[in-house]
Amino acid sequence: MKKIVIAIDGHSSSGKSTMAKDLAKEIGYTYIDTGAMYRAVTLYCIQHGFFEGEKIKEEELKASIHDIDISFRLNAETGRPDTYLNGVNVEKEIRGMEVADKVSPVATLGFVRRALVAKQQEMGKAKGIVMDGRDIGTTVFPNAELKIFVTASSQVRAQRRFDELKEKGMPADFDAILKNVEERDYIDTHRETSPLRKADDAITLDNSEMTIPEQKAWLMEQYQKAIAE
Ligand code: C5P
Repeated sequence: MKKIVIAIDGHSSSGKSTMAKDLAKEIGYTYIDTGAMYRAVTLYCIQHGFFEGEKIKEEELKASIHDIDISFRLNAETGRPDTYLNGVNVEKEIRGMEVADKVSPVATLGFVRRALVAKQQEMGKAKGIVMDGRDIGTTVFPNAELKIFVTASSQVRAQRRFDELKEKGMPADFDAILKNVEERDYIDTHRETSPLRKADDAITLDNSEMTIPEQKAWLMEQYQKAIAE
């Protein structure tokens, strides 16, 4: 069967990763979470003292960017890929609030984006991938056969993130999460390099009022249409 590239972009905590992972599993494609890659670079910065308060020591990060190796390995227990930073499983650490608070400024840096985009293009070269992020349909794979743009209200997205952290037994404060979601939206849509925007040929899905099974069914339908074309 024809293999395609599926680009899923959208706002923070819009549920795009859940949809993307489930679709990939169902159709036997590789799933790549590009947000996890930006989060892993951010964790590296924290670990190496590259933050001075809010400010990033850009020159130091630039000098180390090629020492940062990010990979994904399947977790047999969850059936989903875990993120590895220089060979160490960092899946849990990259999901915490400290990384969430610092990731968007890291993702505005042109040299970080260039390095990660090149890696993402390499990962998707053989097709048969579902990649989620902010700039997949616009910058990473502008020729992707199927492009989806996912959104939901910021309240709904903050609630989902809150529930997810609670479920994992991690600290969660709704107001702080809502503020983080709105700040990330602002930074992601206003940055100079590859801002978050819907590709002209992407299909929009507002899933504020949809259940996960409904979203899954909708996405499967889009995939079936795309491979039939
Ligand atoms: O998808 P997730 O919320 O994990 O992404 C974390 C952050 O990484 C986003 O808020 C955004 O700043 C950045 N990002 C990006 N481009 C991507 C994926 C994520 O700028 N393709």
